[in-house]
Amino acid sequence: MKTVYTFVSSPNHIYPDHPERPARLAILEPRLKSFAAELLEAKPATREEIAYVHNPKLISALEKVCKEDAPGIIDYAPTYVTQSSFEDALLAAGGVITCAHAVIKGDAKNAFAIVRPPGHHAEPERAMGFCIFNNVAIAARELLAQGLERVAIIDYDAHHGNGTQAAFLNDERVAFVSVHQYQNGFYPGTGWIEDAPHARKRIVNVPLPAYAGDQVYEQVSEKIFVPFVESFQPQIILISVGFDAHWNDPITMLGLSTAGYLMLAKKVVALAEQYCDGKIVFVLEGGYDPMNVANGAETVFIAETGKGESESAVRDSNPHKEPDCESRIEEVRKWHGFS
Ligand SMILES: [Zn+2]
Repeated sequence: MKTVYTFVSSPNHIYPDHPERPARLAILEPRLKSFAAELLEAKPATREEIAYVHNPKLISALEKVCKEDAPGIIDYAPTYVTQSSFEDALLAAGGVITCAHAVIKGDAKNAFAIVRPPGHHAEPERAMGFCIFNNVAIAARELLAQGLERVAIIDYDAHHGNGTQAAFLNDERVAFVSVHQYQNGFYPGTGWIEDAPHARKRIVNVPLPAYAGDQVYEQVSEKIFVPFVESFQPQIILISVGFDAHWNDPITMLGLSTAGYLMLAKKVVALAEQYCDGKIVFVLEGGYDPMNVANGAETVFIAETGKGESESAVRDSNPHKEPDCESRIEEVRKWHGFS
């Protein structure tokens, strides 16, 4: 069975000197045809689908601000909007839904929604963190509306997926794990181990220090992702993938290399094979160096299709020494009773 993808580049969602810009996808776009995957046309999400996660008043307010006041900044991150941003955000969310439908209907084995604006910081009541609507959360709720009972989301963007956590804090049909940089002053400031004491094993946060890289992430995938998926038994896995955990991302300080990204993509694809018949949809979140985004997206396609090789994976190893995170990972396992 095939791998499919959607590509929503939102060329008019752009703001001077902002890192979340269309050029993020400029190196990736001409390489897309070289991957063994089929492009699907993204359909815009409906307002009803957006309202699976977001307050209808927020949806109307965002539409109004785009039509009447854009361009402008709508939160401190800063998150910006242009006149096209509302439609762009509907198409980004729709791009994930299009991929999710293809996988659950059996038209594709797995999928990758390459969309912007990103989504995982957007909370039910507010847009934030360069995100307008929470694309992955909306797709998860749409899958539940289609009859699925358990959806797992694994988020390995460099930042905490606060919006996704907020959306599913009290929804036992969705499990969420986020691995992210965590320290004073690092955005968005949430994502500590004990964020959701009522939802142990289901809402899981793995806060990491700066420079955590390939070895730490490999331990996280083996010691946390595995028991997380095993305990929840999802019917599909959605991945919030951000390439801003790469060691030379301009706005973060983590230490993944392209080889580390390839390892992670293969691990989560293998988990989907083992627990949910291979059903997995990757969803692009952050990543602010266009070369990292292109090389990182390639690792996702290699893992999903089983075809191709990553030339960059042998070239860009992390120059920083990795911190030892064994005790942190043990602390997370203990809190959730993963053993
Ligand atoms: Zn990020």
